[in-house]
Amino acid sequence: MADGGAGGIGRLLVRLPNWLGDLMLARPLLHALRHHHPRAELCAVAPAGLLDLIGAEGVVDRSEAWPGAGSARRALAARLRAWGPDAALVLPPSFSSAWFAWRCGARVRVGYRHEARGPLLTHALRRRARGDLHLHTEYLALGAVLGVDPGATPILALPRRAAIEAGAVLERRGVSSGRHALLGPGALYGPAKRWGIARFAELGRRLVSDGRSVLVCGSAAERDTCEAVARAVGRGATPLAGETGLLAQAALCAGSAVAVCNDSGLAHLSAAVGAPTVVLFGSTSSAWTSPLGPRVRVVQKPPVCSPCFRRTCAIGYRCLEAITVDDVARACAEIAA
Ligand code: SF4
Repeated sequence: MADGGAGGIGRLLVRLPNWLGDLMLARPLLHALRHHHPRAELCAVAPAGLLDLIGAEGVVDRSEAWPGAGSARRALAARLRAWGPDAALVLPPSFSSAWFAWRCGARVRVGYRHEARGPLLTHALRRRARGDLHLHTEYLALGAVLGVDPGATPILALPRRAAIEAGAVLERRGVSSGRHALLGPGALYGPAKRWGIARFAELGRRLVSDGRSVLVCGSAAERDTCEAVARAVGRGATPLAGETGLLAQAALCAGSAVAVCNDSGLAHLSAAVGAPTVVLFGSTSSAWTSPLGPRVRVVQKPPVCSPCFRRTCAIGYRCLEAITVDDVARACAEIAA
């Protein structure tokens, strides 16, 4: 390996997750890599929509957008092969990600065994059952192959332009300054992660009656859901789905007195910037993927069938139905105190 950093790693390629939530759970690994290999050149590969956020961390030296399959991906692999990575960490479980690391010419390629991709990896780790380890610990185990120890993970610091953009959005929508509450009623995964519009709306009305303005946030794909919640809350609620980039969305989270979200990327983003975050779990496992941050409260009432990891439910979404507005309002009061 090139002798550019501790442990003999000069250039390290990290294929990061495709989902915002999983990316936030990869932050401890990124910080540990930076700490352990201060002089190594770190290159992150991730979907284009996540690159701003990765850049804001300031822990990688370059980042590349993960292209769609085909010639663009082959061209990126060729470019990175010329750069000459000593090692590659492959966080997504896909065959294509391992193939990419192999095409980039990294001599050491570390990832979990999955989809018959073992031969493409020099270190194909066996993965334990989902939830035996938290996902961020699973990611850190990949770094451990390179001798990297876990360390402290700071809250996600944002560039000044994020707060400026967030402030401009609030001004444009006539939301007065002062600490707002944020609701994230969407979850692209499916209805088995969504607590429901009526209950989010009831919670929103309580927050408004406590004197908060309420921002209902999500991606552009969640606009209908966010608008329905805001309409049902009425005066004091503002739907903002799809109206900001990720950095400004993170700034809106950071300015929140409390954020209440389904188990979604928004919950992870809110937790990462240090906002008091209440996250509601349905079919998935909080032991595996609860958000990381200094002020996180999980609300989960798992029936015997949980976690099933299903996107839809044939038996009535008991895991979500069991969570009452009182439960969530109590969690909000506790975490915001
Ligand atoms: S099967 Fe159980 S855990 Fe899965 S979505 Fe339905 S109620 Fe929830």
